[in-house]
Amino acid sequence: MVDPLGLAIWKMRYGLESVAYKEVRKQLILLYRAKRSQFETQGVVEAIVDNCLHEFMADNCRVCKGATEVLFGELKMTCPECGGLGKHRYSDKERAIFMKMAQERVKHGTRISTNIHWLLNVINTLDVKVNFQMANQLERK
Ligand SMILES: [Zn+2]
Repeated sequence: MVDPLGLAIWKMRYGLESVAYKEVRKQLILLYRAKRSQFETQGVVEAIVDNCLHEFMADNCRVCKGATEVLFGELKMTCPECGGLGKHRYSDKERAIFMKMAQERVKHGTRISTNIHWLLNVINTLDVKVNFQMANQLERK
């Protein structure tokens, strides 16, 4: 069984459907409220969800654009920026700017930072799971 939220995440990322994006955003806000906090203001919860969706959708390394390697003259080498992961690592500062919050509030070790990691993990886990299921279904045909 494909998880409905996982499927919406897949559609959002690979189909670039704005309807799917809105649905994912809505579901993640509900999930966050249910699992992490009933006390944070709606504005804070939305900022956390929007930040995580932004990081998920724009996760390519800024230098190699996700290719994991860069050309140095004629020489191909592992991207020095991401160490060959192809992923961008968002800093506390970038998060603070995106969420329009003081860096003190979102820095590593704060509740918001912990919850951002939790939510990114939820999104990525669902994404990996649905990708696996989609690949299986394609192979069967
Ligand atoms: Zn890179």
